[in-house]
Amino acid sequence: MKYKSTRGKASNYTFEEAVLAGLSPDGGLFIPESIPKAPSDFLTKWASLSFEELAFEILSLYIDDSEIPSKDLQGLVNRSYSTFRHKDITPLHQVKDGLYILELFHGPTFAFKDVALQLVGNLFEYFLKRKNAGIENAADRHKITVVGATSGDTGSAAIYGLRNKQDLEVFILFPTGKVSPIQEAQMTTVLDKNVHNISVKGTFDDCQDILKGLFANKDFMSKYNLGAVNSINWARILAQTVYYFHSYFSLLRSLNITPGSEEAKKINITYSVPTGNFGDILAGYYAHQMGLPTSKLLVATNANDILYRFFRSGVCEKIVGDDGGVHETLSPAMDIVVSSNFERLLFYLARDAAGDASVPEAEKDIKAGEIVNGWMVDLKQKGRFDTGARVLAEAKRIFDAGHVSDEETVATIREYCFPEDASQAAYVMDPHTAVGVTAAKTLIPKTDARNIVISLSTAHPAKFSEAVEKAVKGQEGVQFSEFFKKVSPKEFDGLMTAERRVVLIPRAEEALVIEVIEKELGH
Ligand SMILES: *Cc1c(COP(=O)(O)O)cnc(C)c1O
Repeated sequence: MKYKSTRGKASNYTFEEAVLAGLSPDGGLFIPESIPKAPSDFLTKWASLSFEELAFEILSLYIDDSEIPSKDLQGLVNRSYSTFRHKDITPLHQVKDGLYILELFHGPTFAFKDVALQLVGNLFEYFLKRKNAGIENAADRHKITVVGATSGDTGSAAIYGLRNKQDLEVFILFPTGKVSPIQEAQMTTVLDKNVHNISVKGTFDDCQDILKGLFANKDFMSKYNLGAVNSINWARILAQTVYYFHSYFSLLRSLNITPGSEEAKKINITYSVPTGNFGDILAGYYAHQMGLPTSKLLVATNANDILYRFFRSGVCEKIVGDDGGVHETLSPAMDIVVSSNFERLLFYLARDAAGDASVPEAEKDIKAGEIVNGWMVDLKQKGRFDTGARVLAEAKRIFDAGHVSDEETVATIREYCFPEDASQAAYVMDPHTAVGVTAAKTLIPKTDARNIVISLSTAHPAKFSEAVEKAVKGQEGVQFSEFFKKVSPKEFDGLMTAERRVVLIPRAEEALVIEVIEKELGH
């Protein structure tokens, strides 16, 4: 499998090149040359595979054996998921009739980003080891310096994915005092020599601007061989497709239905996905295109609802306010203005509209790339683009969308913490998860057992205690601190007081960050 760009001007990249480069030279995002179909007998062949076995099968469709031999790929997958605390890696939990929660937070940092970043860290290490085979002299070895900016979960998941890896250094910039205390503790208590936290006095946008500056600085970039692990990295999307398949088989197993049977065909599954940068749900799109029988993919946003509005109107429009257009919500990992991975879906939608079967495939790619490029230019210059009725209709065939307020989010957490129905067990969910569950509310059937919602849970509730506290406070006979003690995982004990390593930067200036990076690397 080779990789090409969403802007249509770059193609024939290897998997390794796509993963290490992050962004394509024409400004687009890497996507596979074509989306492979799951084998025609996958419903039987894959039905009882473990998460790791399934990951191997799916990844093999996107990575040539000549690039990563299957024995190596198997090793990479097994190592990546050996750090998870649950034997199913991403277990499916039934909360009530018709509603299942797909728990994606059993990795090292208790958020779904671990599913992807554990693999990405091992891939980076694998590629470097191969490049450095036989090179003894330290100065001659290939090295990668990963630099990232985070407002929370990405930083800790990247640090846990890259810690203690040979020839790799990782620098994470975060805004001082603006990430949650648990997230800051998770990042800064990792004391491995190759992990460097930089706390920047400024906002998340300041951190991101500095990052952009560093990547645009050609000298700096090539001197330190900068690498990125942000959410547009193709390997992250790929890793995430696995749990869509895995949860489908888990569901049918728990319903005692044989995949591929007539009974199975009658089941309609909606996957509800709390969405920020559109990476998680895009993986669902790939799973669907590969052949997974999903009924709908539900894009669940908080008040930052550019995607919700797109799926209503076909128009993508930034609303710019005093605060740069971002609303601060109780689900901060989804507080974004423009979703970076959305461009990948736009390419497929544009391609679909770029002509019928008579148009040669290569021509369609170029045309779709031009259309996407035009939309992106419009978004930058006019703050909006309109995709038109045909594109919207195709998007709506596969997706649905909902937006959820903070009040609704809190109400949903409360509703499941303290269920009215005595036969229903209490379930504590984090605010991002609650956005997904709320958006799917009207789809959860009361009577029809054939309609099922699988709602993706992207973080452990103890990571986002503010929203949980709001939901629990005022509940008669419940003391929040007692309640929270029971929810909080033992891994968080002592985290807040553990030794930390972090460099503080008094002003959001690129030069100061460069100074720190060079000093830490001993240059
Ligand atoms: C990153 C994140 C999301 C959003 O995922 P995208 O892939 O960016 O759409 C949702 N919830 C949590 C907890 C996250 O960390």
